Amino acid sequence: MALQYAKRMDNIKASEIRELLKLTQRPEVISFAGGLPAPELFPIEELKRIAKEVLEENGAKALQYGPTEGYQPLREEIAKRMEKVHVSTSPENILVTSGSQQGLDFAARIFINPGDIIICESPSYLGAINAFKAYEPKFIEVDTDDKGMVMEDLEEVLKNNDNVKFIYVIPDFQNPSGKTWSIERRKKLVELANKYNVAILEDNPYGELRFEGEISPAVKHYDTEGRVIFLGTFSKIFCPGLRLGWVAAEPEVLSKFIMVKQGADLQSSTISQMEVASFLQQYNIEEHIEKIKDVYRKRRDLMMKTIEEEFPEGVKYTYPEGGLFTWVVLPEHINSRELAVKALEKNVAFVPGGSFFPNGGNENTFRLNYSNMDEKRIVEGIKRLGAVIKEAMEA
Ligand code: PMP
Repeated sequence: MALQYAKRMDNIKASEIRELLKLTQRPEVISFAGGLPAPELFPIEELKRIAKEVLEENGAKALQYGPTEGYQPLREEIAKRMEKVHVSTSPENILVTSGSQQGLDFAARIFINPGDIIICESPSYLGAINAFKAYEPKFIEVDTDDKGMVMEDLEEVLKNNDNVKFIYVIPDFQNPSGKTWSIERRKKLVELANKYNVAILEDNPYGELRFEGEISPAVKHYDTEGRVIFLGTFSKIFCPGLRLGWVAAEPEVLSKFIMVKQGADLQSSTISQMEVASFLQQYNIEEHIEKIKDVYRKRRDLMMKTIEEEFPEGVKYTYPEGGLFTWVVLPEHINSRELAVKALEKNVAFVPGGSFFPNGGNENTFRLNYSNMDEKRIVEGIKRLGAVIKEAMEA
């Protein structure tokens, strides 16, 4: 039997990361592959208490349909929290989504006709690339250096293409590169978007997970014309299993997201929203985020130190100032997909970098996650990986 699928399905492949994660479920595998938070940091006891309280005190409401925009007390808490990334906004400008992943899908649904152009960083987040692909855009990748996207290159693309719909950026501790944009680049991005009349989609799951120095103002902070759409999430500062994120945007844009959400799933889970709102009201999430940062900072330090000691000369990598990932660039002739197979034979996993480039190439790169493995496993895994790389480079 061959069913008649839509043409758009030609562009949609199984996520390489999801496939890889299945293999890395075996307990003996040291996995740097996923983007999973450390589960030992989830506030399970607090959430047990809150779940009981929500059901006992407000059960009928918690189990009922709610407004598409989201549970109002949660929208209020989110609007307040946006101050952390220097964005002044109000609850009316917030739509609660099922993770920021849903915001990515909605953005593409709202903006993309087949053949329209999306500009993204090179490399960019695989989950976004896959979400966008369903709407059949053309991707133009713009190079990044250690200060973010190269603005001269961006302007060149904007000048030469008139159907660019949005510029998709992850300005803080980017997934996968671990890079962070400078303030100047953030300002310049808004300036160029204004000049060429395109939207900016700012995806910011990691901004608050800065291990040293001050949290950077979001690109949205510099928005002068209401063209920055900000996607936030509780996944990395709290728990991804609740599947709660948000869109912060000006009313005209937000109304489009709300209409699309109505068609997609009516609303995000009422009970999850009420639980998160209660947590934010009763506990200090800043303290919780500090705990996460302390653990990840140590893991980052250890991973970077071990990489320095164990990876051979000629291998380049990013030093991430926060977030969950570092990014490795091998000499050009080394293929990281082949390397991944060899590493898995030694029970070490990572994600080959090629799939983070929507237009392909760059097979000599890979991403490493440091948030999910304990310190002993990080050292052991990087040692094994170093040996596999050395072997490949000597071959
Ligand atoms: N954007 C980026 C850059 C991410 O890394 C992730 C998760 N890995 C997401 C969006 C989606 O996160 P969620 O849907 O859990 O909020």
